[in-house]
Amino acid sequence: MIESAGPMRNIERVIRGVATSDGAGVALTRIIGQPALPDLDPFLLLDEFRSDKATDYIAGFPDHPHRGFETVTYMLAGRMRHRDNKGNSGLLTAGSVQWMTAGRGIVHSEMPEQEDGLMWGFQLWVNLPRKDKMTDPGYQDIAPERIPDVVSGGVHVRVLAGQYGGATGPVQAPDTDPTYLDVELVAGATFETALPSEQNAFVYVYDGTLAIGNDGPGQRTIVRGELAVLSHGERVAARAGEGGARYILVAGQPLREPVARYGPIVMNTQAELELAFDDIRSGQF
Ligand code: MN
Repeated sequence: MIESAGPMRNIERVIRGVATSDGAGVALTRIIGQPALPDLDPFLLLDEFRSDKATDYIAGFPDHPHRGFETVTYMLAGRMRHRDNKGNSGLLTAGSVQWMTAGRGIVHSEMPEQEDGLMWGFQLWVNLPRKDKMTDPGYQDIAPERIPDVVSGGVHVRVLAGQYGGATGPVQAPDTDPTYLDVELVAGATFETALPSEQNAFVYVYDGTLAIGNDGPGQRTIVRGELAVLSHGERVAARAGEGGARYILVAGQPLREPVARYGPIVMNTQAELELAFDDIRSGQF
């Protein structure tokens, strides 16, 4: 039913996240950055946090360092306060995005600003190329109204980064050139978009069911909690199941550089990793 010009992306692998705990004891699901999917160049980590039990999130993420990459936090529900040692503070609310470039080093905290109710969102780590790992730290809070909404025929797309339907998202990262779309489809609605064919891409369904690929033998359906790594191609097409679907579609240019990582530090070599931890111990961040 969907007519396309270029090669279509299909599902290459389906990954389920693993339940884990991070920060001072926040329950979350790690989808990228775990044994089944250590990374998907240039993406290093994808966490989903979703709970309406305060004990799952109230401890938050007290002061901790980052170096060498960018963190992108997208909130679906709840309120989270960011503070860092560069003097930035911001409140993340439902529908907002925080894009933080750790660069050569930042120490920040991410703490819930609610004592009950639902806290739901994602944190994605986007790698920086070798030439930018020691760049100046940067920080942007993007309010919900700055994120374009493209709505037509049962399809609602929020464009956090990249392009869709003539809209351009507010966040740019030149080397990884990311696309980050939050898509909501009513039952049976179809979605299609172009993606640069050399980019790595994934879909993570956070509500409902979604068939990916053209109608036919290559099409496969994933459900809430499943991430599909997409094959390379020029276009991606999807159709919502009977209950509709909500998902994020993320793509980026692979850096194809060595990755040396430990916890919140991601560099190219072991020596750079050791230097980073020396710098943390001596207060250089
Ligand atoms: Mn952090």
